[in-house]
Amino acid sequence: MSRYIGPSCRLCRRELTKLFLKGERCYTEKCAIEKRNSPPGVHADTKGKTLEYGIRLREKQKMRKIYGLGEKQFKRFFTIASRKKGIIGTNLIILLERRLDNMVYRLGFATSRKEARQLVSHKHVLVNGKNVNIPSYLVREGDEISIKEKDLQSVQNALESVVRRGVPSWLEIDKDNVKGLVKLLPTRDDITMPIKEQLVVEYYSR
Ligand code: SF4
Repeated sequence: MSRYIGPSCRLCRRELTKLFLKGERCYTEKCAIEKRNSPPGVHADTKGKTLEYGIRLREKQKMRKIYGLGEKQFKRFFTIASRKKGIIGTNLIILLERRLDNMVYRLGFATSRKEARQLVSHKHVLVNGKNVNIPSYLVREGDEISIKEKDLQSVQNALESVVRRGVPSWLEIDKDNVKGLVKLLPTRDDITMPIKEQLVVEYYSR
């Protein structure tokens, strides 16, 4: 899978919104969106797309970038979401929230989903006491997520700064023991990011 390796802030500028991809910096005045909220590149807005198609495409790209997925991986999640009962867009967003890398980020063990993904793939994360190194692993209600080495510096730093964004009510954090509990799976109302998932569904249904 090809992965974007350019500057993260460029992704936010492309979507004209904060995607919170760089941890603490996103909450400071150094944030590129705070300094200059305009698309990168001289001809950024002049690509020949129809208006409706362009809006749906941008929403899909925004959602994909927030969770840090490649095209194929994102499409795979969409396919799984569309096979489940219920509203496809809601299924999609909840599936993405259930990813282990997202949970590690939400619990405050990492300052960004990218950092969380590294923690998982470098085998620092345990689920119910067992090592899981697959970032896309889907966490279930009642699962306990912990960090193998309690004094890992990057995790301690992240835990100090989690106060700013807060831990969602459906998770419970035990900072001293560097572990967290998935009390409940989130509902759509619990996810407050500015995502219009219906546009993503329309993008794939065209
Ligand atoms: Fe996006 Fe964070 Fe960069 Fe701001 S600092 S543009 S929110 S990645």
